[in-house]
Amino acid sequence: MYRIMTPGPTQVRENVRLARSRECTNPDLDKDFFLFYRDTCRLISSLLDSQNETLILGGEGILGLEAACASLTEPGDPVLVIANGIFGESFADFVKIYGGKPEVYTAGDQESIDVDELAQYLQGHHDFTYATVVHCDTPTGVKNAVEQICPLLKSYGILTVVDSVSAMFGEQLHVDAAQIDLVCGGSQKVVSAPPGLAFVTVSEDAKAAMRNRKTPIASFYANLMLLEGCCAKGWFPYTMPVSDINGLRAAMENIRDDADIRARHERIAAAVRSALCEAGLELFLKNGYASTVTAFCVPDGTTDREILDTMQTEHNIMLADSFGKYAGQLIRIGHMGENATEENVRETMRALDQTFESLGVQTGAGLEQAFLDAL
Ligand SMILES: *Cc1c(COP(=O)(O)O)cnc(C)c1O
Repeated sequence: MYRIMTPGPTQVRENVRLARSRECTNPDLDKDFFLFYRDTCRLISSLLDSQNETLILGGEGILGLEAACASLTEPGDPVLVIANGIFGESFADFVKIYGGKPEVYTAGDQESIDVDELAQYLQGHHDFTYATVVHCDTPTGVKNAVEQICPLLKSYGILTVVDSVSAMFGEQLHVDAAQIDLVCGGSQKVVSAPPGLAFVTVSEDAKAAMRNRKTPIASFYANLMLLEGCCAKGWFPYTMPVSDINGLRAAMENIRDDADIRARHERIAAAVRSALCEAGLELFLKNGYASTVTAFCVPDGTTDREILDTMQTEHNIMLADSFGKYAGQLIRIGHMGENATEENVRETMRALDQTFESLGVQTGAGLEQAFLDAL
């Protein structure tokens, strides 16, 4: 078995695996399951500091993003796509698929969206049905100040869709205070359950917009209104993946019981960055470092493949490369969720030291020692 240190999927704690092996029920007929689903949704909302309803969707994290766009977009709708990374840009595809007209607001990929610049732009451009923004754009690990960006958009009456799949619970996120209309999460990032579930927390304003559409939502599986209020109705639109939800509940309870979770993510992320810099490695970002994932540039004289392969075959540790326009350029350490312990990251740093040594890459300092010194 590998020690998974990728920015999703992440390690899964034993109590989550055991919860997934519990006896299965018929979720369409079992009243207790409706209550269990409802309480799981409520727990997620409360962990996000939100009164809004959370809906759990049977599908990978991407389903939440698509469902948000499917449910809000009407043909011809202007949608602001705020993008400083690959996930940010890809929202434009969902908008187009459902007939919307994306306007992509781009900023440099090596830094957070500048809120003042966005504010200036919005003064002259604010006729949008909704806007999308990514909390942590995982291929580079850039974090955006969604708690400032969303209230700004909302002040123009623009609904907001936030992809926080790789940020929530590792980063601060007070959904109601930030006035976020739809926030998307997934099971396999900080949450640390296996891949397979998406969830979306939906504001009353977003529900009203969906109810008041002139055209029907052009999807069944990605139609959030079908799941809305399903506990009260005692009816699900499709059979819920019981074992996945059992695992998700256990993972959410782990988060609830972990008072130090956010501070630990921040501490570990800062120490990782400090160690990489001490060693003379180059961080990809100039600012906006997420506490959940760190990307550094592949040093001269080796390749991402060599680093990942050596880490896997000689140290049983899985790191990630990047993809799309960053393919071949970056190595990513996913210090999120269950991965984010001092021991996991220390072992990773030690293995990276040995990997660089065996690949003949000179570093200025030992990563392991520099990590420990910085903690
Ligand atoms: C992982 C992730 C998703 C979900 O993507 P999958 O490819 O389905 O895992 C969505 N958004 C972000 C920012 C992510 O990191």
